[in-house]
Order: sequence, then structure tokens, then C-alpha cells
Amino acid sequence: MRHLLSIEDLTRDDIERILDRAAAFEEVSHRDIKKVPALRGRTVLNLFYEASTRTRSSFELAAKRLSADVVNFAASGSSVEKGESLKDTVLTLTAHSPDAIVIRTPYAGAAALVASWTTAAIVNAGDGKHEHPTQALLDVHTLRQKLGSLEGRNIWIVGDVAHSRVARSNILAFRKMGADVTVCGPPTLIPRGIEALGCDVRYDLDDLREADVVYALRMQHERMDQHFVPSLREYAANYQINGRRLGPRQVLMHPGPVNRGVELSGEVVDSPQAVITMQVKSGVVVRMGVLYEVLAGARDERSAPQPTEPQLA
Ligand code: ASP
Repeated sequence: MRHLLSIEDLTRDDIERILDRAAAFEEVSHRDIKKVPALRGRTVLNLFYEASTRTRSSFELAAKRLSADVVNFAASGSSVEKGESLKDTVLTLTAHSPDAIVIRTPYAGAAALVASWTTAAIVNAGDGKHEHPTQALLDVHTLRQKLGSLEGRNIWIVGDVAHSRVARSNILAFRKMGADVTVCGPPTLIPRGIEALGCDVRYDLDDLREADVVYALRMQHERMDQHFVPSLREYAANYQINGRRLGPRQVLMHPGPVNRGVELSGEVVDSPQAVITMQVKSGVVVRMGVLYEVLAGARDERSAPQPTEPQLA
């Protein structure tokens, strides 16, 4: 695989291959010296145009555990603030000859666009509300560890589906792995036609008990230009996952950052059913699996695209 741009591009075999490799990397995370030489001499550029805690730190750690050299670039404090465009920034940083670029931007489709400007392997770390493929992969990895297989499992994704790239990637990934997926939220936060991705739609939590896994989403205020719910208090009253709604055998997931008291009550975040910390841990090994896949896994399949010449303003 040359790039990882979306879950849509992956087959179930691709997902299983990446996650089997991630599982093999688990052992490295338990060693005293948490490093293998798999990507020694390779350079990974982390290009983040949007806030990130978990994704950025775990990509950095993943690259370092594979012995790659890492360059971190955040838009704030860079020439982006002086008006440099995404294309010029990418072309400028490409002068450092990165082998892989991990990119997060607020623009849907930006990762695919960047892939056409450089010979580096591109890993999408979130492009607007389009996709967040490594989040979906780490969630599948977490569920494989927790439940064995996803085949026939019932997964409910609850909350702001409309603005969530995680929802889109996860519906696709969970379906590819054989799970039944239901999305649930207020009608204003469920995009019309979402069933085309292979999921059911509910507008209330009345049947939440049928879920094996409850996956809560954050309200994506940064992508909203109007009020989609009357108030957060009313939203919480109808859709918050709390001790009253969550059954004792249900697994609770959330991609982070959690807004305690909104989509989740504090008690369920801290309950033994929550695997939120496990998801963060999975992030490192899964991103090791992804970097290995695009940089070493399919080296022979590579064909070199023609990079465009830098045109700096
Ligand atoms: N961290 C995830 C994302 O970047 C989820 C979220 O921000 O709510 O999409």
C-alpha cells in the first residue's frame, strides 16, 4: 500500500494485515528498550494544521519506536501564519526528502491532494469531516483485543455523526470487519443518506441495550456554523451515555477528547466498561503498523509519481 488516505480504499484483508502487524509490535511496547530498527534511516514528517493530542503524539512515538527520524511541523508558529499555502508548505518541506508525511488538516480531501504533490507516502491523520482512518484502525484493534472478533457484533455510534470524520471511517471499518452498525443522534446531527454506508439509523437511545459496543462522539463545535441542538443540556438529557443507560456488559468507546458531562457522564468515563485508555495505547502500535505498511510493507509495489516543481511566492 502506497498511501493511507481513507478506510474506503482498504479491503478487509488490508485491515487485517495492518492490525496483525500492529499486534506483533505490541511486544516492542513492553520491552525495556522500546525500539526496533525497521525504519532506520527513514524520515517521517508530521504536518498538523489542526489541534491534536493523541494522534500527533502517537504518530511521533510510533515513528521513533521504528527508529525513523521525525520532523514535527505545526501550522501555528510556522510560515502558514504568514500566509504560506498548503501546497507551498508541502513543497518546501518536501525539500527535506521525507519518506512519509502524516497530515492533519481541516479540509476534506487535503490528504489525497497532498499525495499528488510529492513522492512521499501520505498518511491521513484526519481531513476535515471526511475521514480519520488510523482512528478506525486503532478502534478495530482495540475491539479485536477486547472481544476477539467483530463479526456479528452490534455497535452503536452515538452523537454528532454529521461533523465527525471518526464516524465515517469507523462505520466503514466496522462494517468491513463484519459488525452491524447503528448510528444514533438528533436528526440535525445525522446526515441524510448515511444508510448508504451500510448502517442503521436511530434518533433515540430506547434500544441502546441491544448494543455490544457503545461508541460516543464529541460535539464537533469547531465544524459548526450554526446551532444544531437547542442546548448542550438538552442534548445531554436525551443522548448522554451515563450509568443509567449503559449496561454492565457493554463496551464503551470514545475517540477523545471527551467532554465530560456532555456526551459521557464522568462515572462511565471512569467505569471498567470504558476502553478509552486502551484505544490510546492501541494508537501507537497501530500507527507503527501503518508506517511500516506504507514505508516497508509494499516497497516493491511503488511507482514514483512526478512531483511538481515548488512555486514559492
Ligand atoms: N480526535 C478525533 C478527531 O480528531 C475526535 C474528536 O476530535 O472529537 O477527529
